Formats: sequence, structure tokens, C-alpha cells
Amino acid sequence: MIRSACLAAALLAAGCASSPSSAPVGPIDYDVVCQQLENSGKASRALRWFHASAERRASYEQVFRLATERVGALARGRAPGTWAVVADADETLLDNSKAECADQVQGVVNHDPNRWTQWVLAEQAEALPGAVAFASAVHSLGGRLIVVSNREEVPHRAATASNLAKVGIQVDVLLLAKDRNDLDKNSRFRLIEEVGIAASRLPPQQVLAYVGDNIKDFPYLSQVDIGDPAVFGTRYFLLPNPVYGSWQRLPMR
Ligand SMILES: [Mg+2]
Repeated sequence: MIRSACLAAALLAAGCASSPSSAPVGPIDYDVVCQQLENSGKASRALRWFHASAERRASYEQVFRLATERVGALARGRAPGTWAVVADADETLLDNSKAECADQVQGVVNHDPNRWTQWVLAEQAEALPGAVAFASAVHSLGGRLIVVSNREEVPHRAATASNLAKVGIQVDVLLLAKDRNDLDKNSRFRLIEEVGIAASRLPPQQVLAYVGDNIKDFPYLSQVDIGDPAVFGTRYFLLPNPVYGSWQRLPMR
């Protein structure tokens, strides 16, 4: 599903076209695909790390705990409803590694929109470690949780909202990509901070923290510009994703 060479682009905003045609996908039992991949001997190192490692669990817990502490400090004295936290969805709040297992066991290398949609509509993504507690803490502190994701408005909205609710993450506003080509999140970040979103009855928000697994989950940052490094761990909270991302097409030097 997600990823490999082009996939980062498709979901995360890198700008590489997804495969022009993808075949219909047959039924997939996501409960067994990772075991099937293990049996096949074809699992990538990166996916093994992301799906199975203690390091991943500890990293996510660490980042979400630090983010919670910082948001608590930054929220002090602010009126409830005036501020928000912005989080990405995939590999930030939701774990899609089973979909990656399904792709690797089939030898699917590039992002396949049909396979990805099949996974999204299955609503089987689990919450990543620390994500549910973080979302709950944001609300307890008086903030909104706004999810900005490059999942697409159609056909992904209902299933994405349902999946997040199923795992116990209450989302106040879900801002998705208008279509497959709407990959730049900066216009949505501007709406949140400067304009507000009338359809969601959301006035402009003071965003106290951004959380994501891709550098493009943070306003105006990119593979060639990470801005002020001091913002990481203080207002921007970056989670590790060695499986896919906008880094995939970088040249080795
Ligand atoms: Mg992501």
C-alpha cells in the first residue's frame, strides 16, 4: 500500500504521480498478512522495525509524552476553544503497517491507489502507541485536535473518521485532501491559523503544536528546509517513519 518510491508523494505530499492504472484488488485478510509476509521471507528491514520493534513503541510513547507536556505548558492561561493541536493521521495517529505487509507479500512496490483505498475502507488501522492518550490530553487541556491528512475527501472521509473513532481518538476537525493531487498541506494550515473553517464552525486557531511523521506535516518545511531546528521538541513533534515518506527520492550523497 503505502509506499515505496512514489507513495510518499501520493499520501504525504511529495508530488510523484501514483501508478496510472491499478488492478482491482481481491479480498485481503489483514489479520494474517504480516504473518504471511514473515513466512515469505520478503519483509523489508524498515517494515520489520516499524511493525514489530520495541524501538518504535518507545519512540512514539516518548514523542507523544513530550508533546503532551509541552502542550500543557503552552495552554496555561489560554481560554478553552481558542487553541488547537494539528496532527497528521497516517503513521502519526494510525498504524497502516498491515497494509504495507499486504503489499510486500504481493511484491507491490509502488503506491497503488486501489489497494490503499481498500485498506482505508476496511477501517482496520490501529492506534499508534501514545496517540490515544495524547488526543485525550489535548481535549482535557481545553484544546481541539485537528487532523490534516492527505487521505482524500472522496472516498476516504467516512472510513477515516470511523477508524479514528474506533480506536478511541476523538477528532474535532478532519481536513483531507480535495483529491489525489492536493498534497500540499500549507493551504490547510493557513485556513486553520488565519481564516477558520466555516463548515466546521472553526474560528482561527492558535496552533500550539504540530505532530507528524513527514517533514511536510509541518508548515512550510520540506526536505531542503527544516527551518529552525529548535522548534522540534518544543512546538513541532516528529515521529519516525523509515518505511515511506517524502525522503524517498532524495539522492544519496
Ligand atoms: Mg503520515
